[in-house]
Amino acid sequence: MSDNVFCNFIAGQWIDSATNIANINPANTNDIIGHYAQADAEQTQQAINAAIEGQLQWQQSGLEQRYSVLMSIGDELIERKQELGTLLSREEGKTLAEGMGEVYRSGQFFHYYAAEVLRQMGETAASVRPGIAIETYREPVGVVAIITPWNFPTATAAWKIAPALAFGNAVVFKPASQVPASAWALTEIISRQGLPEGTFNLVMGSGSEVGETLIHSRQIDAVTFTGSLETGRKVAAATAINLVKCQLEMGSKNALVILDDADLDTAVECAISGAFFGTGQKCTASSRLIVTEGIHDKFVAAAIERMKKLVVGDPMAEGVHIGAVADARQMEQNLSYLASASEDGAHLAYGGEVIETENPGYFLSPALFTHTTNQMKINRDETFAPIACVIKVKDYDEALATLNDTNYGLTGGIITQSLKYATDFKRNAKTGCVMVNLPTAGTDYHVPFGGRKESSFGSREQGSYAKEFYTIVKTCYISA
Ligand code: NAD
Repeated sequence: MSDNVFCNFIAGQWIDSATNIANINPANTNDIIGHYAQADAEQTQQAINAAIEGQLQWQQSGLEQRYSVLMSIGDELIERKQELGTLLSREEGKTLAEGMGEVYRSGQFFHYYAAEVLRQMGETAASVRPGIAIETYREPVGVVAIITPWNFPTATAAWKIAPALAFGNAVVFKPASQVPASAWALTEIISRQGLPEGTFNLVMGSGSEVGETLIHSRQIDAVTFTGSLETGRKVAAATAINLVKCQLEMGSKNALVILDDADLDTAVECAISGAFFGTGQKCTASSRLIVTEGIHDKFVAAAIERMKKLVVGDPMAEGVHIGAVADARQMEQNLSYLASASEDGAHLAYGGEVIETENPGYFLSPALFTHTTNQMKINRDETFAPIACVIKVKDYDEALATLNDTNYGLTGGIITQSLKYATDFKRNAKTGCVMVNLPTAGTDYHVPFGGRKESSFGSREQGSYAKEFYTIVKTCYISA
C-alpha cells in the first residue's frame, strides 16, 4: 500500500498506477473501503513479461515446495476467515456468514490442489516399433490469465489460482473492479510465500484496458474467465484469433422443478435458499421455479409464509438472511426486471420492495412472481437478483421441457420422492450439474463444476478435471 492506495503486484513488487478507484460498501455507501490502483495496458504488459520469467522458474520448483505453498495459503485463508470474510461482505454485500463461508471454502480449494500437486502421474506405453518406449506426462500450460467476476471474489479466484500454481503455471490475475479488496488480500497472502518473482501478478483495472490487453495477448498461453455471457463471447473471439486456450464459465437461468409428490418443506427450503440467498447473485441461483399444478397453490402459499421470515439488511448484523445488492447498477437492473415482469402480466405475489436502512445502501426484499410463462423476459434473461418466478406446468414432462427451454445450462434441480422421475431428470436435464432434493446452488470443492450450452465453454473447472486446462500433454518416444 502506498499513500493509502492499495497497489498492484507485478514482478514481486507492489506498484502504484496513475489512477485508482474507490471501493464502496454497497450496504453503506458512506463507507469507502479503500482506493485501489488501476493498471493500464503498459503495466499489464509488464505483468505478462514478469509472468513469462517467473513461470520458467516455478515450473522447476520441487513438488514439495508447491505443496507447501498451497497448504500455507489455504491455512491462512481458513485461519483468517472472520477477518477476510468481513472484508468480503463489506465490499460485495453478502451476509457475514456467507462471506466467511466463502473464505473458508477458498482455503479448501488451496488444500485440495496442494494434494493434487503430489498426484501428478504420467503413463507409459509400449511402442508399435520394437525397442522404443513411450511416456506421456503433463507439463504446465505456461502463463495463465485469470479474469474473475464480482459475486464470488475470493472463491472464484481460489478455484483458478490454486490449480494454476499447483501445475506449475504463472498467473496474471485480473479481478472485477467492484471487489478489489478481496483480490488484494489474497494477493498479499500469496506475496509472502516465497514464489519466484513474477510467478503471481495482480493487475486490478478495467475490463476494457487490463482485460482486453490480456485476452488479445499472444504471450498468454491460456485464459480462464468467469463472468457474463457478453464478455465471455469477447474472450472466446479474442483468444480464438491467436489460438490461445480458453475456458469460460458464464451466466445461467437455472430452474428448480417441484413435482406434486415433493415434500413441501424440502421444496420451500430449496426454493428459498436457491433463489434468494447470496441476494440471488449466484450463477447457480434458481430464478425459475417450475411447479406442477397439483402442488402449485400449496407451494406458493408456503413459500410466501417462509419469505415473510427472511430478514433483509446490514450484512454484518446477526439474524440477517439477505444482504445488499452489489451496486447501484445492479439495483437499477433489478428494478427494471421487476417492472418488466409486471408489464408482461406476471403477478407480484410477494416482496420486490426497496428497503430503507439506517445507512444509505442497496437493499431489495426478495420477490416472488406467479402467473409467469417461460417466454417472459424475466424467465429468459439471467437476472442475478433476489427475484424468483413460478411457472405452473401440467406434469413432469412439461416441467422438464420448460427447464430445458433456455439458452443456458449450468444447474437444474428437482424436488420429488419418485425414483423414476429423479432418474429420468438426471439423464435428461440439459445442465452441467443436477440436484435432486437439493437447492440448485451449493456445490462441493473436490468435483468438477460447469455447465452446458451458453453457460460454459472449454474444459471443466475444479476437482481433478482442472488439469485438462492447466496442463498440456507431452508424448516422449525413447530408443535405448
Ligand atoms: P462481467 O462479464 O461484467 O465481468 C467479469 C470480468 O470480466 C471482470 O473482471 C471484468 O472486469 C472483466 N471484463 C469486462 N470486460 C472485459 C473485456 N472486454 N475483456 C476482458 N475482460 C473483461 O461479469 P460480472 O458482472 O463481473 O459477473 C457476473 C456474471 O458472472 C454473471 O453472468 C454470472 O452468472 C457469472 N458467473 C458465473 C459463474 C460460473 O461459474 N458459471 C460464477 C460466478 C459468476
